[in-house]
Amino acid sequence: MFESLSDRLSGVFDRLTKQGALSEDDVKSALREVRVALLEADVSLPVARDFIKRVQDGATGQAVTKSVTPGQQVVKIVHDALVETLTGSDDPGKLKIDNPPAPILMVGLQGSGKTTTTAKLAKRLKEREGKRVLMASLDVNRPAAMEQLAILGTQIGVDTLPIVKGEDPVAIAKRAKTQAGLGGYDVYMLDTAGRLHIDQELIAQAAAVRDVANPRETLLVVDGLTGQDAVNVATEFDDKIGVTGVVLTRMDGDGRGGAALSMRAVTGKPIRFVGLGEKMDAIETFEPERIAGRILG
Ligand code: GDP
Repeated sequence: MFESLSDRLSGVFDRLTKQGALSEDDVKSALREVRVALLEADVSLPVARDFIKRVQDGATGQAVTKSVTPGQQVVKIVHDALVETLTGSDDPGKLKIDNPPAPILMVGLQGSGKTTTTAKLAKRLKEREGKRVLMASLDVNRPAAMEQLAILGTQIGVDTLPIVKGEDPVAIAKRAKTQAGLGGYDVYMLDTAGRLHIDQELIAQAAAVRDVANPRETLLVVDGLTGQDAVNVATEFDDKIGVTGVVLTRMDGDGRGGAALSMRAVTGKPIRFVGLGEKMDAIETFEPERIAGRILG
């Protein structure tokens, strides 16, 4: 993840740290290169601009050019600006699941990794927090998706709501709620249907489910490899349905990292988790410090 951005930036910073004394022009031209690297990584223009301004302000305030190790000073300022840009929530991994049974609504486009992420999070809640979780698939258009969740449930030892043919998503959500209450579950997760594009029906269905379930968390799963598109998808879902956080998947791939950097700044929504592979353990809490470290190599 972030390979290209990381390569570009480390090139710029290598030169800076080797250089010793820096003039204001050196810093300026380095920041121009940083800006280009950000844009190439598909970071949105206003976010890149804002980021550079933040670094510039930091560099001026801290009199980089007079410091003993000016190059390292710049790297530190860039690091801090990255952390600031990425930070969206004090405790991204903490899901609001008090008052059992707590509903968690999972939304996103088809193929984003929604079903996989639902199961990964259920496993985490079970193993790390000792929660009893019930998962339900609401994807009535794709029986294979319902089967997939059931298979993952068996694999990770988490219950899934039995599949009843012919039921609509709202009815399934109601049944999940009843079952979660009767069965003494702490959390029930609703894996809504995805589609290839955002359309009226997708939104109407997710909104109807939201209205009956009244979710404590609505997590949007987006493919981190899709860069700026991921941010656009998030903006639209948030406008139409309201989300409490974003899960960026495929961050193990060679995406350019722009989605992570732009997400909070553009949508105002925090990234809560990142998906790092197909396995059930391949998920991490989103940690700005760690991501900034990876970007800077
Ligand atoms: P859905 O249609 O949104 O429910 O997507 P799925 O959960 O079925 O995932 C689609 C494909 O992406 C599956 O093959 C998953 O194993 C894979 N996938 C999901 N998350 C990740 C991830 O973080 N990294 C990688 N490499 N693959 C993932």
